[in-house]
Amino acid sequence: MTVRPSWNDDEIEAVRDLAAAYFTKEVGPNAEKHVAQGHPDRALYRRAGELGLLGMSLPEAYGGGGGSFAHEAALIEEQARAGDTTMGFAVDVGIVAHYVNAYATEDQKQRWLPKICSGEWVASIAMTEPGTGSDLQAITTRAVKDASTGSGQAEYVINGSKTFISNGHLCSLLIIAAKTGEEAGAAGISLIVAEVDDETPGFQRGRILDKMGQKGQDTAELFFDDLRVPTANLLGPEEGKGFYQMMEQLPQERLITGLIAQAAIEAAVEMTVTYTKDRQAFGKPLFALQNTRFELAECETISRVNRAFLDQCIVKHIDGKLDATEASMAKYWISDRATEVADRCLQLFGGYGYMNEYPIAHIYADVRVLRILAGANEVMKELIARSL
Ligand SMILES: Cc1cc2nc3c(=O)[nH]c(=O)nc-3n(C[C@H](O)[C@H](O)[C@H](O)COP(=O)(O)OP(=O)(O)OC[C@H]3O[C@@H](n4cnc5c(N)ncnc54)[C@H](O)[C@@H]3O)c2cc1C
Repeated sequence: MTVRPSWNDDEIEAVRDLAAAYFTKEVGPNAEKHVAQGHPDRALYRRAGELGLLGMSLPEAYGGGGGSFAHEAALIEEQARAGDTTMGFAVDVGIVAHYVNAYATEDQKQRWLPKICSGEWVASIAMTEPGTGSDLQAITTRAVKDASTGSGQAEYVINGSKTFISNGHLCSLLIIAAKTGEEAGAAGISLIVAEVDDETPGFQRGRILDKMGQKGQDTAELFFDDLRVPTANLLGPEEGKGFYQMMEQLPQERLITGLIAQAAIEAAVEMTVTYTKDRQAFGKPLFALQNTRFELAECETISRVNRAFLDQCIVKHIDGKLDATEASMAKYWISDRATEVADRCLQLFGGYGYMNEYPIAHIYADVRVLRILAGANEVMKELIARSL
């Protein structure tokens, strides 16, 4: 009983069909390989680019599709419905490309965005450090200006380390949050774009981290040891704006997290209804037991109530009116409900629910992190409380 969202139209339905075919026919058969190697195949980013699935809400002048957030939302939902957590599109085109589009110069947009939209480059954003995640103002990665370089252009020399970076193993474009000033807290933080590959001096990719879920998605450590980046790659007109840029962009990241959580809830309920109608116990389907019926009735109600709020947030975001408070509500509420619903549905599968060959086991493990990343849910509640 998936209810199609109100912001759907024929064009969005066409995007859904294209995305669903891509995830089920092209990504799905590679899922085991992605898990084994800890990251998705780079060629599948290029394939998504060829299909026009990347950067659908970015301007056509930069290789995008000229659409709206509805196009991005359709891609993210279809990925979650297909059960794929390996392709890092939510961060790549869902988040990082929008920082570039919002704050880079015209030349930089021309240089970077077409490569992201074609899938030639994978993009990441590195905020979190081993010593700090929620408290972003406490980052210690430093970028120091050095005007005396052989190349003749002023450069930042970046030192520090980052962890939990999505797409960290594959990224070619990396936004680094670093301290550029002595000012305490938010005022000293800037965002700097580094073009990186495995041979870039001063840049080292660390381990692909072994996670409890989302195992085919590369979440990695990154190290900067005198990494040199042109000062022209500072995002925005002046230093010290990084924290405010992150605060401006985080609502989209939080809405995307809510979307992923909601798609997981809808998939979990649907597959559990199907399973319990088929599985027999005590001479009748599990679905005939009152507990099963009540559990699924409650889960479906949670799903539809979430969906109504989420769709309202999406429509507001398409109109540029979604504020940080409502984005935080969507992120915290729906991701909390996703872990609850995944747990309740898994229970109805009995022992099979605990087996990795059953998709409900993956949903259970995959959604857990949604309460932590993009700002822990406790931080979301702090943000909401500030608006009261
Ligand atoms: C799979 C995955 C992918 C990620 N991708 C990225 C990425 O691409 N880029 C990136 O920069 N980061 C990424 N992260 C990092 C993520 O954003 C952080 O893990 C998150 O912000 C929490 O930071 P922390 O892990 O350091 O936890 P901490 O800051 O140590 O917090 C631990 C816990 O303390 C509690 N807490 C924290 N602050 C408060 C508060 N103010 N009030 C009440 N309770 C609080 C919460 O329960 C929180 O979960 C990713 C993380 C994971 C697991």
